[in-house]
Amino acid sequence: MFKALLIDRKNDAHQVALTDVDESQLPEGDVIVRIQYSTVNYKDALAIAGKAGVVRSWPMVPGIDFAGEVTQSSHAGFKTGDAVVLNGWGVGEAHWGGLAQKARVSGDWLTPLPQALTPWQSMAIGTAGYTAMLCVLRLEQLGVTPQSGPVLVTGAAGGVGSIAIAILARLGYEVMASTGRPQEAAYLESLGAAYIIERAELSEPGRPLARQRWAAAIDSVGSHTLANVCAGTQYGGVVAACGLAQGMDFPATVAPFILRNVTLAGVDSVMRPQADRIQAWSRLATDLDLEKLALIGAREVTLADVPDLASDLLAGQIRGRIVVDVNS
Ligand code: NDP
Repeated sequence: MFKALLIDRKNDAHQVALTDVDESQLPEGDVIVRIQYSTVNYKDALAIAGKAGVVRSWPMVPGIDFAGEVTQSSHAGFKTGDAVVLNGWGVGEAHWGGLAQKARVSGDWLTPLPQALTPWQSMAIGTAGYTAMLCVLRLEQLGVTPQSGPVLVTGAAGGVGSIAIAILARLGYEVMASTGRPQEAAYLESLGAAYIIERAELSEPGRPLARQRWAAAIDSVGSHTLANVCAGTQYGGVVAACGLAQGMDFPATVAPFILRNVTLAGVDSVMRPQADRIQAWSRLATDLDLEKLALIGAREVTLADVPDLASDLLAGQIRGRIVVDVNS
């Protein structure tokens, strides 16, 4: 038996309970992992709150990421004792996820944990930090360097934004941070932001082209913000778009793309091929200053704390990361 947070639907009523589950109930897979830490992402909070569109089969163990140790494997790439991390692949949505003491998954979904990172640190980074790294890699692949000019990060005080700022600053970029929380300016500067931009400057409907202020951007906000980010990008610049915190819409014109040669690059973390994951996690191990990770902060909680935290997260009341110790 092991403990798991279980989401179920009975007579159309949404239920979440911390439950003892028999190992025989684990879904199909060729690797069993003893989970050490998980985290609570926005998507997990939506699943726990019973919002439509995340959970695709019931009962479901939420948790789109986890770190742990392999206890049983018939997959050629993993053996007992290996330290692994998992992000995405529909885990916590269509396949039982990380908010439990055990998981059985396909070995193809697992990434070896770099030696420089502990399981705790990997979940303090979480899917947000892994996605931030994928965005930085996308900018690099499209030719952006610290010499290109400033890089804007939107949703700066959020998980993706905070870690993106820390990585970019460590790599020598001049970072502009857009936030709706001016009280977090000192925090964002301590992570490495050189300038703070008020969220309201970007979140309202804007012009097709604006003053060229940044060479590149990492946007986790979408909607009018993404449109204004593209409109303010320098000639030949690149915008990596990964999120929809303001909205899924994209009320923009083609002007930045056809008149300023701007590239809009999409970033998905869920279905990324293994090679990209290995590259992102190994770059996190070298290019994220762990002192900055400590500044971002991660509150350690138990499985029993998760349902309440999920509502706080949806209400925008959480700053920094959450690490769930599934064994305490
Ligand atoms: P967080 O909730 O931690 O951060 C989101 C930030 O966006 C907030 O902190 C806030 O920043 C800003 N924000 C929130 N609401 C609004 C609004 N209405 N208008 C403008 N800005 C707003 O989330 P994460 O950083 O973990 O994730 C960010 C986004 O990226 C989410 O949409 C998430 O779904 C997506 N995502 C996508 C992934 C992928 O694979 N593509 C993977 C991971 C996340 P501030 O307070 O500084 O203004």
